Amino acid sequence: DRPLLDVHALQIAFPAGNSVARAVDGVSFTVARGETVCLVGESGCGKSLTALSLLRLVPPPGRIESGSRIMFDGGDMLTLDDERLRAIRGQHMAMIFQEPMTALNPVLTVGDQIAEVLRVHTRLSRQETWSRTVDMLAQVGIADAAARAKQYPHELSGGMRQRVMIAMALIMSPKLVIADEPTTALDVTIQAQILELLRDLRARTGMALLLITHDLGVVAEMASRVIVMYAGRVVEEANVEDLFSAPSHPYTEGLLAAIPKLGQEEERLQTIAGSVPPPTALPSGCTFRDRCPYAFERCATEEPALLQVGSAHRARCHLIEEPARRATRHEVVRT
Ligand code: SF4
Ligand code: MG
Repeated sequence: DRPLLDVHALQIAFPAGNSVARAVDGVSFTVARGETVCLVGESGCGKSLTALSLLRLVPPPGRIESGSRIMFDGGDMLTLDDERLRAIRGQHMAMIFQEPMTALNPVLTVGDQIAEVLRVHTRLSRQETWSRTVDMLAQVGIADAAARAKQYPHELSGGMRQRVMIAMALIMSPKLVIADEPTTALDVTIQAQILELLRDLRARTGMALLLITHDLGVVAEMASRVIVMYAGRVVEEANVEDLFSAPSHPYTEGLLAAIPKLGQEEERLQTIAGSVPPPTALPSGCTFRDRCPYAFERCATEEPALLQVGSAHRARCHLIEEPARRATRHEVVRT
């Protein structure tokens, strides 16, 4: 069966002086119908850009380079004309952003903003448009939806605004919903409620969900499959069980060690030393090597390929070919 979304060799470049910097370089992955896939990595790894590119929303001067392919529901997103593109956006593929306050229009009521999506994509009567809008607000767990629909974004709490964003994304029953850090701006209790809502809506509607997060705790609760990105590349891809029980890439290992565990003191939490290199200053060889506790000579000279670890498990690390090197772990010196 053909996947709903098939991203192949995606490259996103920005001009950098006389050359170009590739913020996303050779990213390939698929999302099946109804599947939840998580895209994971620290900020600056290219997750958000990858997400934006799916709807052709890469901010200029960034551009998707030729050779990239984004197949969605059988069509090539990168060659669609504007009219077809507008028809797909919001109708078949929709996005939920991290900050609802900036994504919502402050001078329109939340009901009018949701209704607007229906006006663009359907020919429903005003009455039908409004009743579907109120019904959608109720479906995302907003109490007293008819009254709330007439309020402005600033009159709602952060959690409610995120529910409005979700209602807006789901009003056309899209086949794919992309959610970029949808809970990061919310407090922990509200975060859990929003995640549960997304899980529930996915189960009810059969939509596929591409969830972007830096939080592996979120991944554990939501994903069936996980794609780990580092410095614009996919460094590991696995089913959620395999990723948590047998991470193959040292970066994934580092991210897992940074998940707070019950009873563990905050200070004991291991973080990965150093930071993600910008695309203009990538180290030679493996892009993770200046933060990797296993780095050896080969890592400085040769970029690892994405290698098969198990049937549905791949990772981009020389340790897969030289597993004995895993025995030698050294301190990473913070620079
Ligand atoms: Fe570490 Fe080398 Fe693997 Fe890169 S290739 S993650 S530097 S061991
Ligand atoms: Mg981001």
